Amino acid sequence: MKFALTLWFFFASAAPTPSVPAPASATSLPALKPPGRVVVAGLVVKSKVAPVVVEHEILAPIADELIQLGAKYALDAVTNEVRVESASGEVVTMTLGEPAVTRDGITQRLAAAPMLKEGVLLLPVMQLAGLLGAHARIDSFGTLWLNPTLIEVRVEAKADEAEVRIVLSSPVKYRVGTLTNPDRIYVDIEHSALRTAPGEVWKSDMGGVGKVRVGQFSLSPDACRVVIDLAQPWKFEIKSAEVASEIILRVASVIEPPTAVAPTGTELKGVKVVVDAGHGGHDAGATSPNGHHEKHLNLDLARRLAAYLSSTGATVLMTRSDDYYLSLADRCRFANQNGAHVFVSVHVNSWPKPNGRHGTEIFYTHAASLPLAKAIHARMISMLGRRDGGLRKRELYVTNHTVMPSTLTETAYLNHAEEEKLLLDPNFRELAAQAIALGVVDYARERLIKKLATPAAAAETKSGRVGLSERK
Ligand SMILES: [Zn+2]
Repeated sequence: MKFALTLWFFFASAAPTPSVPAPASATSLPALKPPGRVVVAGLVVKSKVAPVVVEHEILAPIADELIQLGAKYALDAVTNEVRVESASGEVVTMTLGEPAVTRDGITQRLAAAPMLKEGVLLLPVMQLAGLLGAHARIDSFGTLWLNPTLIEVRVEAKADEAEVRIVLSSPVKYRVGTLTNPDRIYVDIEHSALRTAPGEVWKSDMGGVGKVRVGQFSLSPDACRVVIDLAQPWKFEIKSAEVASEIILRVASVIEPPTAVAPTGTELKGVKVVVDAGHGGHDAGATSPNGHHEKHLNLDLARRLAAYLSSTGATVLMTRSDDYYLSLADRCRFANQNGAHVFVSVHVNSWPKPNGRHGTEIFYTHAASLPLAKAIHARMISMLGRRDGGLRKRELYVTNHTVMPSTLTETAYLNHAEEEKLLLDPNFRELAAQAIALGVVDYARERLIKKLATPAAAAETKSGRVGLSERK
């Protein structure tokens, strides 16, 4: 029978008693054989004294190698006290020949006492590993691996950048690389073990960094891999030293800030845009404390947006051109059946509590819509100067059921006093419409215009504004 023993311990300084289990009875565990080889964070232990097994604990000559885990030890020849200080500064003390260990003034039992053999200090590996926040494992070939652990991954993200912080029990060497299709950044951490189960540790509903996964990349030697999945090409910067107990990556968008070049009157010729004014008719959308309805502001924004886009040569179709009700399914069907290249739904926001929130938010559902959403987000944030509420991935009906790149804009909050005043100002609405339009222009320049420059694609489009229904 192959035998592998994995023991996990937690170095929880806040807890008064660490959860070190009492030694199991001799019948409940298979007999432990002394390891043939001991490797501490990649370094093979070389000693004239071989490890021994006492009471289901391994006593091994690892004292000099503890430095590989960022720990220090000292043996007092007079008192026989063994003092070990972990990488994080926690101190544990033991006495030769006594099966007990003291940490933070609390003494607990050890399965086996530290001892001197032929003048070489042997330490209880399994329990000491736990006390140092390290991981000990014996593989099926009888090698004992003692490694730092990956404790956690923390992510702090904004719409356009994120900081990923990988926390380890002691300093490690690591390697950062990139992979494409899909784009991702990986961090390989040499001689390390996962403290948690492998899997996703973080998932974002924001654009940019999609999620972070951790896994035990290899065993014997043990290595962890952290993968940062990216929604599109991003650049990164390593903010930590070559050997570190906290690996810090700053990840940021590679998209340049929008240029100020105004579109010409024919630049978007061949680009078909569906502009969707949110709500309408009996569906008023949000209503401000002063009684202003979202549906009217949406329609005004949508008309301005359509006018601006038409002035760039785009073919613009409006789902509704007046105040009437239209189902969400009808809006999507209209865009899909008309073969639009871009779908923009125009809304203004509200929060259950008046003045509870403010700022501009952009939503999308499918990854293919992210470049469009990002372009509009960049323009709206830079031109409107409102709080950046983020670029968010949500399963909204219209962005989910349209087959072309689609996005939903929330220019500002209608039930926020300052933003309501702005939204009621036609100059602000004009600016918002221009920002959205320029986002579409940026996106079209980047992704659409070259593609449409083929004769077949150009032949089927014509310029102008068309309404879903020509009601007046
Ligand atoms: Zn709305």
